[in-house]
Amino acid sequence: MARVVAISNQKGGVGKTTTTVNLSAALAERGRRVLVVDVDPQGNASSGLGYPLSTISSGVYDVVMGYRDFQSVVIPTESEHLHILPASRDLVGAEIELVGAEDRERRLRKVLMPLRETYDDILIDCPPSLGLLTINALVASDAVLIPLQAEYFAMEGLGQLLRTIAAVRKSLNPDLKREGILITMTDHRNNLCREVEDQARKLFGEGVLTTVIPRNVRLGEAPSFGKAIVQYDPKSTGARAYIDLANEILERRTDDDEQPSQAEAV
Ligand code: ADP
Ligand code: MG
Repeated sequence: MARVVAISNQKGGVGKTTTTVNLSAALAERGRRVLVVDVDPQGNASSGLGYPLSTISSGVYDVVMGYRDFQSVVIPTESEHLHILPASRDLVGAEIELVGAEDRERRLRKVLMPLRETYDDILIDCPPSLGLLTINALVASDAVLIPLQAEYFAMEGLGQLLRTIAAVRKSLNPDLKREGILITMTDHRNNLCREVEDQARKLFGEGVLTTVIPRNVRLGEAPSFGKAIVQYDPKSTGARAYIDLANEILERRTDDDEQPSQAEAV
């Protein structure tokens, strides 16, 4: 049964898409069957995996609105085990169209439910907002992974995100867990980066993943080639970090299964 993870933070530019694409590819390298769901109307995860908005006529929008079935819009990627449910230009309208729709918060959950047997991991790249698309992602997920950029003001807005997660848990998805907070774009030579990391670890303890993602130019370059970092430059520090992240996440899950009481310590 697949584990569904939303990669969310309403701040833009914190590494959500980079994490979705590269963690997915790292999991697929291990032979896991992975689906990326791109619910950001900007479509960066889709283009980062080789499918810019201009090439996509239908995608997650059509499936969520009930116009198409999943099989007719899912596309393969360069990695054998990695598929993508892409964003298309229409997705920008979904936020408004969903407002009046029946079961508006549970649309994506319904789409993904039958796919839990087809995939081992389903990763959802969220938009930089806490609107209905993000709510759909949180309601559809087992856990949420929160990228936190190691910079000044990193914590700003985190409270609002945590309150949204708590509200979703209370009313729409009581099983939603936190996969953890992931420190991104860090530079160990930079005092400020270290301070942000220390502060996050002090505040959230075990809730912060041990793996940190360094700032690495190769990670910034890979999307323009439509490739994940494990394909573009497997020896880069960025590739190694995302492979470590995949390993840590899989290990944590095994620990959680063995010690259910620990699961919510995150
Ligand atoms: P978000 O999806 O949260 O808006 P992105 O993943 O698109 O953030 O990252 C924002 C920008 O920073 C992108 O141009 C991306 O290529 C770059 N970037 C993200 N993570 C790293 C990193 N670890 N090192 C270098 N550049 C990065
Ligand atoms: Mg993004």
